Amino acid sequence: MKMTVVGNWKMNLAQNSARELVRSLAQAGVKSDNAVDVIVCPPYTLLGTVADLQIEGIAIGAQNCHHAAKGAFTGEISAEMLVEIGCRYVILGHSERRRDQHEDNELIGRKAHHALQSGLRPIICIGETLEQRKNGETFSVIKDQLDKIITSATAECVSSCIVAYEPIWAIGTGLAASAEQAEEVHVCIREHLKACAVADLVPLLYGGSVTADNAAALFACRNIDGALVGGASLKVDEFSSIVQAAREVVH
Ligand code: PEP
Repeated sequence: MKMTVVGNWKMNLAQNSARELVRSLAQAGVKSDNAVDVIVCPPYTLLGTVADLQIEGIAIGAQNCHHAAKGAFTGEISAEMLVEIGCRYVILGHSERRRDQHEDNELIGRKAHHALQSGLRPIICIGETLEQRKNGETFSVIKDQLDKIITSATAECVSSCIVAYEPIWAIGTGLAASAEQAEEVHVCIREHLKACAVADLVPLLYGGSVTADNAAALFACRNIDGALVGGASLKVDEFSSIVQAAREVVH
């Protein structure tokens, strides 16, 4: 399967630094090709800024969207608005939104369904806490998240999404899952999606402290189809090395 590398900028950068980062990435040769799709996900106010640069080979995604097309939802942004500004992807269900905005799987499924109908490809995040891992609950938590998302989004919808496995204990901590830890969960996700009649062509990304140093080992795993990258996506050298590592993968 083609690899996918997504940069999640979170709530970082300003107009000038965003332009500089994307231009520098392009100069460093970061772009989609036959082997890899490259996506950056700036905060809302920088989406138009990055889109206006019209950098070839770097697609744009948002970090969230609402589940309705329009209406009385103060402070929200719809999938339609994101498409209009040039987005093709949207991250949904990031653990920081589950934690801070109390988003649950049912809502994430509804958002995915609407985003897809509006022309955005959702990147759905799932993952366990450290406590759940220590209690041996990782697989059951992952399957439960998938089941609930599929119930509200439909299996057909999920088959057009990208799924990102992001163990919460690995996000922003510098403590990435080992390739073995990530791969065993990816195998579980792959099998569960098949059991739920979701096509086995869904790209499965790993996210959680991915860097230039650990990307190649993670990407060497058969069921890891790319990465969702937070902190390292703000650094030109790091992000371009991760994209290069994805390009060199032969699965
Ligand atoms: C993320 O934001 O999805 C993420 C994985 O962050 P980091 O790479 O910084 O751990």
